[in-house]
Amino acid sequence: MSERVIALVDQRPPSLPLPTLPAGQDLSALPLDGLRRPLTDLRISVTDRCNFRCSYCMPKEVFDKDYAYLPHSQLLSFEEITRIANVFVGRGVRKIRLTGGEPLLRKNIEILIEQLAALRTPDGQPLDLTLTTNGSLLARKAQSLKDAGLQRVTVSLDGLDDAVFRQMNDVDFPVADVLAGIEAARAAGLGPIKVNMVVKRGTNEHEILPMARHFRGTGIVLRFIEYMDVGATNGWCMDEVLPSADVVRLLQTELPLVQLDPSVPGETAERWGYANAQGVHDKTLGEIGVISSVTQAFCGDCNRARLSTEGRLYLCLFASQGYDLRQLLRDPAQSDHTLAQTVDAIWRGRTDQYSVLRSLRGPDSASGPGRRVEMSYIGG
Ligand code: SF4
Repeated sequence: MSERVIALVDQRPPSLPLPTLPAGQDLSALPLDGLRRPLTDLRISVTDRCNFRCSYCMPKEVFDKDYAYLPHSQLLSFEEITRIANVFVGRGVRKIRLTGGEPLLRKNIEILIEQLAALRTPDGQPLDLTLTTNGSLLARKAQSLKDAGLQRVTVSLDGLDDAVFRQMNDVDFPVADVLAGIEAARAAGLGPIKVNMVVKRGTNEHEILPMARHFRGTGIVLRFIEYMDVGATNGWCMDEVLPSADVVRLLQTELPLVQLDPSVPGETAERWGYANAQGVHDKTLGEIGVISSVTQAFCGDCNRARLSTEGRLYLCLFASQGYDLRQLLRDPAQSDHTLAQTVDAIWRGRTDQYSVLRSLRGPDSASGPGRRVEMSYIGG
C-alpha cells in the first residue's frame, strides 16, 4: 500500500541551511551558545500524532482527519534517534526527554528506550531518561517502559473534573483513566512523577485547588504551567494567561507554601514546598512547581535543544525553523564526527530567547516574525 503524502511544505516551514564547518574545528571543549548557555537537555519528539485534541496544542479544527501527518518514512528510525542522541551526549547532553505528539503512540517505543538507556556519558554515567505523556496509555505501558530502562515520567493533566477534562482533551477521554495511568507509573517505580497542568484563565483555573489537594502528600510533584503562545494554531491571547503569581496566591489561601531553592541550574519550574504549622517545608506533604513561561521568562538558563520527529533541530520552543540533521544521518558519507561538529557549530550560533523578547515587546505581542512550529511537532 502506498503512503499518503501531502506536500509538507504547506504544513511546516523549510529547514535552515546547515552551518559551514570551520576548518580544524576543535571539539575538545563543550559548546556554549551565543548567550553562554551550555547544551545539557535534549527533547526528542518521536511522533507528531496524538490521540487528544487539546485546544492549546492540537485544536480539532486544524488537526482534523485531513491533516497531513508525517509519513513513516520521514520519521527518524530508532537507530537514527539513538545515533544522534549519542552525538548530543558527546556535546554535553545529560538529560533526554521523549515527547510527541503522544510518545506512547509510537510503536515499540520500549525498543528505543532500551537503546537510549544503554548510552553513557563520556565519563561513563547513564543519562537522565524521561518521557512526557498525556497518560492515556500509561496504565497499559508503565511496567514495560520501566523494564526498558525509563527512569521517570511527566504526565500532562489539566484538571480532575471529568467534564472539564473531557472538554479540554476534546476527545471525551475520562480523567479516571489518566489517574489509573499515574498510579501504574508509581507502582512500576517510574518516579519521581511530575504532573503538568496548563492553566487557562476562564477554562480550568477552578481546578487548581482540587488538583493541589489531590496530589499533596503523594510524592507526585504538580506543576502549574502558564498558557503559552506556542505554535500558530491555538489562538493564544494574554487574557487567557493566569500568571503563576496568582496561582501561588490562590494556593496560599488554603495550603501554605514556602519557596524552595532550585534543585538544578536551568530548572524551568519555580519550586514551592507545602509548609507545616511552623511555616517550614514539610517534606511529607511534598512540593509544587510553577512554570512562568509568559510572565517571567527563563531563557537566561535555557539549555534545551529539540529534535523534531523528522530530525530537525530546533533551538527554541518558539522557533519557526529548524536544522535538518536527517539529511546528514541518511548520508553514508557523513560520520559521527561530522554530526558532532555540526551540532557544536549550530549550538555555538544560538541566540534564541523568545520569551525574554516577548516580555520586552509587551504582554500582548505573542509572536515575532515568522510562523512558529507547532508544539505537537517538537514536543513541549
Ligand atoms: S523561549 Fe525559547 S529560549 Fe526561552 S526558555 Fe523557552 S525554549 Fe528556551
